[in-house]
Amino acid sequence: MENKPIARTLRLLSQLMELHDENPFKIKSLANAAFKVDKLPFPIAKKSPAEMEKIDGIGKSTAGKIVELLETGHITEMQSLLDITPEGIVEMLGIKGIGPKKIVTIWKDLGIETVGELYYACNENRLIEAKGFGLKTQEEIVRVIEFRMASNGKFIYARVEAEANELLKKISAVLPGAKIGFTGEYRRCSEIITELSFLVGTSDIVGAIKVLSGAALLLDISESKTGITGETENKLLVRIDVTSTTTFYSQLFKQTGTSEHVETVTTRIGSNVGELESEEAIYKKAGLQWMPPELREGDTFIEKAAGNALTQLITYDDLKDNLHNHSTWSDGVNTLEEMALYCRDQMKLKYLGMCDHSRSAFYAKGLSIERVLQQHEEIDSLNKKLNGFHIFKGIESDILNDGSLDYPDEILARFDFIVASVHSNLKMEKEKATARVIKAIENPYTTILGHPTGRLLLSRKGYDLDFKKVIDACAANKVVIEINANPLRLDLDWRWHQYALDKGVMLSINPDAHRIEGFTDMHYGILAARKGGLYKEMCMNAMSLEEITKAFAVKRG
Ligand SMILES: [Zn+2]
Ligand SMILES: [Zn+2]
Repeated sequence: MENKPIARTLRLLSQLMELHDENPFKIKSLANAAFKVDKLPFPIAKKSPAEMEKIDGIGKSTAGKIVELLETGHITEMQSLLDITPEGIVEMLGIKGIGPKKIVTIWKDLGIETVGELYYACNENRLIEAKGFGLKTQEEIVRVIEFRMASNGKFIYARVEAEANELLKKISAVLPGAKIGFTGEYRRCSEIITELSFLVGTSDIVGAIKVLSGAALLLDISESKTGITGETENKLLVRIDVTSTTTFYSQLFKQTGTSEHVETVTTRIGSNVGELESEEAIYKKAGLQWMPPELREGDTFIEKAAGNALTQLITYDDLKDNLHNHSTWSDGVNTLEEMALYCRDQMKLKYLGMCDHSRSAFYAKGLSIERVLQQHEEIDSLNKKLNGFHIFKGIESDILNDGSLDYPDEILARFDFIVASVHSNLKMEKEKATARVIKAIENPYTTILGHPTGRLLLSRKGYDLDFKKVIDACAANKVVIEINANPLRLDLDWRWHQYALDKGVMLSINPDAHRIEGFTDMHYGILAARKGGLYKEMCMNAMSLEEITKAFAVKRG
């Protein structure tokens, strides 16, 4: 074994000991030894135990550990510490800038156990107020985690959007008069972007490629006969293809859909797509309704488009509400009143659903029964002065391990609606997790199933559920399923929307806002919902105040 892995192991052991609050003297000497071993000019593995002990800064106890490591491949003391430390916490120890002390706070005080959850908590500003943290530390953690995510070349849509629009503007500026559009994953509004791609239509292909390569739009540019590729500063791959003006729309079509989609449509045309004047003309020629780019994944929607059965997809303008939000009553940043006024005056919505955390979510200041009643008083008095704008009394009730909700029935009965979500024990195996969620769906007080898998894109897989069973249970119990609009969640995944809609299950796009800025996530929720084929008649957020009041009442019997 070389010195580096030995040093790394000793260092991890010292961090684990610090995490578990062991003797500070021992921790320090171990950390010091790790540093020494790393710098030694000879391989320590070649030395006898007696020789190791004599090396400055190592000593008898550490030498013993190194010998054990060399002989058995592990250190017993470290193994027992690893056994009582969640995997995600160990992973956090590897992130630069957060030491064991901070990780203890993250783990014990904030209840966060994975890097994904930590990233999410930063996005919700939950670290700012934690002991030993502040805005700067939080920003640094976000930066480091994003860097780790980006290092595998994948980005969530929301992190690419501003840069994509900026680049589009720059390309338009250097190629005035050219036709320019997004293609690929970005145009299809995929939740994960691995390549940002553009198409340029011009009468001078060679000239346009020269201009693009010379314009310093990207780093590491390489040029080909059909365009340029390169990357942005944060390592997002970018491709700009150039085609003639006359083939622009057929290329736009070909480069937007997945290959399976393009092939299906092309086969229906029978001949070459040809030089058509618009994408609409291509779909018409294939005997299909126009298909928005979001739907051009595989052939899921082809049959509907052929039968003239594609419905108008939901749009931002269809929204009447924001359901599922958090205020200062639990872990939110803004007061109830601030949240309500923002929805009424800035977003021009008709009503708002507040769903602070329930009592088991201790790390998020979940509401005790007493505080639930106090919050209801505040909502009643706000509703009197909000001039027709209405706040519904909701709660995001934790789904407990056995599938029950977080309050006794007489308290559950006091809410207008209940979003039931899993926040703990995310590692349950599929069958158990499915049974747990279904039990919550069958609870007569459950109105909406919140972020069904708990996934965090690119960082936490979310738990395995038998989606068909879960959706069937929602259909049987008239429970609505949330499309959580947080761009890190977008959960329920769009790939299940059609199954839900076919079963008659309504979907609700919820911002899960923890501050007024969080409401803007509805934009991403809408994109995900459109991708799943959601239309306003099946979207809870498109209901009028009267309709939703009735719907809540009917659900509660
Ligand atoms: Zn939640
Ligand atoms: Zn929530």
